[in-house]
Amino acid sequence: MKITLLGTGSPIPDPMRAGPCTLVQAGGENVMVDCGRGALMRLMAAGVFPGMVSTCLVTHLHSDHITDLNDLVTSRWVMMPVNVPLRVIGPPGIRAVVDAMLQMLSPDQQYRHDHHDDLRANGPLTVNVEEVQPGDSFTIGAMSGTVHETDHRPVRPSIGFRLEHDGKVVALAGDTVPCAGVDEMCRNADAYVQTVIRHDLVSALADALPNGQRMRDILDYHSSVEQAAQTAARAGVKNLVLTHYVPPMAPDQQDDWKAQATAHFSGPVILGPDLTSLEL
Ligand SMILES: [Zn+2]
Ligand SMILES: [Zn+2]
Repeated sequence: MKITLLGTGSPIPDPMRAGPCTLVQAGGENVMVDCGRGALMRLMAAGVFPGMVSTCLVTHLHSDHITDLNDLVTSRWVMMPVNVPLRVIGPPGIRAVVDAMLQMLSPDQQYRHDHHDDLRANGPLTVNVEEVQPGDSFTIGAMSGTVHETDHRPVRPSIGFRLEHDGKVVALAGDTVPCAGVDEMCRNADAYVQTVIRHDLVSALADALPNGQRMRDILDYHSSVEQAAQTAARAGVKNLVLTHYVPPMAPDQQDDWKAQATAHFSGPVILGPDLTSLEL
């Protein structure tokens, strides 16, 4: 199993970091978890064509986590010789979002159908959406997955995924504070991927801004680096993978970020630029 951080950025556009997206590769399957800004550029950099992605798992419906879902859908459709609909697994609400997205894409579909006989013969642009709840399970090829409750209130619902293949387990949380659902999802996992923010840096930024309250608001629904490390230690995970750095992590700050995690978790801590990966 290979885990690649395709996008490590946050909602704030960043010249060096794509939006939140993680690629899990196992058993010949390529699974994207969330699909933030620029995810497909990074996907190509990881050597994966859009058509090779069978499934996109969505943790919640915040815009920064789904901005480029439409890019994944249309790029697969335009590039693939046959129409194999993308499978999208997400929380209740994802179906309405995908339906609205397909509505947005209807002019594009019409233009391409008018222009390409073979695309028209492939039929309409379709997506196979599955709305799931904590406790549900699913399979993607030889990979098995379970759905777990996370806590990103007031964003509701929000979920995380535990994926297993050939004895290896990765737990992938989206945005969440520590909670029982995340602990259960992470129990003895080989790797735990968590979106994080720095409480100290975000607080300092908020204090320095004239309209700092909006920034201060984000502190109460994300895991800090310390909290992610504490969850990892409590759940007995082997590797902690940090992503979605808020504020953006400058290259010379990496050691500082890592030190906040290693103070609470004794295993390997993986973080870095987009395309940082871990093989299990
Ligand atoms: Zn969020
Ligand atoms: Zn986010």
